[in-house]
Amino acid sequence: MKISWPHMGSLEFVMGSVFEEMGVEYVLPPPNSQRTLELGARHGPEFACFPLKTTLGNFIEAIENGADTLIMVAGRGPCRFGFYAETQRRILADAGYEFEMVPLEFEPSKIPATLRRLNRLKQGKSWISLYRAIKFALSKAYLIDRLERQVLHQRYLDRERGATTAAMKRCYDLVWDAGTYADLARVEEEAFALLHSVPRGEREEIKIGIVGEFYLVLEPFFNLNVEEQLGDLGAFVERNIYLTDWLRPSGERPVLGHHEHASERLANPYLTHKVGGEGIFSIGDTVLYNRLGFDGVVQLMPFTCMPETIAKSILPLVSRDLGIPVLSLVIDEMTGRAGVATRLEAFTDLARFRRRASGRDPQLTLQPAF
Ligand code: SF4
Repeated sequence: MKISWPHMGSLEFVMGSVFEEMGVEYVLPPPNSQRTLELGARHGPEFACFPLKTTLGNFIEAIENGADTLIMVAGRGPCRFGFYAETQRRILADAGYEFEMVPLEFEPSKIPATLRRLNRLKQGKSWISLYRAIKFALSKAYLIDRLERQVLHQRYLDRERGATTAAMKRCYDLVWDAGTYADLARVEEEAFALLHSVPRGEREEIKIGIVGEFYLVLEPFFNLNVEEQLGDLGAFVERNIYLTDWLRPSGERPVLGHHEHASERLANPYLTHKVGGEGIFSIGDTVLYNRLGFDGVVQLMPFTCMPETIAKSILPLVSRDLGIPVLSLVIDEMTGRAGVATRLEAFTDLARFRRRASGRDPQLTLQPAF
């Protein structure tokens, strides 16, 4: 059995670490690329959400590299994510690929079936070793989230463009190589020291918050490196979704620092109930960003995403009420990098103009917490 799963930001660190610890064979799909997108778009239905196509491309490339068992989270709910596993299983089977799809569902009635599937995936290893492997992997992911947050907060000060990004690449390697909790503690110190050592210059600051659909927010290749582009344009960036926050069923968000309920309360004047995905958080966190003194919000929306379409139709009202600029980027396989770059450039200019017009002293409100 050779197990694989689709890419989503730093998810490979969690999954790879679990299977490494367990000594179970796995296949990491090749890094996301234009080919991944072309494969997914060729085999996926035109009207499907964009992440269904990109993750389908990951599965095809994983099968080409020898994977025969594909893992996908599944379930029911007011958005199409729960049906990805079955939809992709049918598409891949019709295309003649040989594999087994293992849907993992976490709603109470499906837990027994999920445990049976996990039992097969762990291939005779004990439950306690699986528990330990998951716990350790989540510690790695939590560290990566905090490092990525630091990167978002400091990249705009780079004296040499790309220096923070290069330092973070080294941090990923350090975390990947850590094999024990003691290693991880040492790596934490080393990685933060590495990021803090990147030479910084003086730069007028603006603060931009990112909201949107979880996959697109977390997956840099397919969101066209929006975070990096904004940082290079001089923005202190925050995003409202970190992998370990998103994986936490309690709704706590220790990396981001506030509970989902807080976001729902802030969204309440505009949207009173959940609409699936991150729709309500895109509204609530936009209100929150405004309260925190941010100068603009970028919403990342996959083409045909239902919850984000609802949020997109409400955000102009939020923007008008609060006076905070909001840029909605709808992304699919036809979206061009140059077009997005131009829109981000114009948007950061607008946010900078608003910052200056507000008369707020950036030093008082915008100093990142290093
Ligand atoms: S959140 Fe949007 S893009 Fe993601 S699965 Fe649901 S409908 Fe599709």
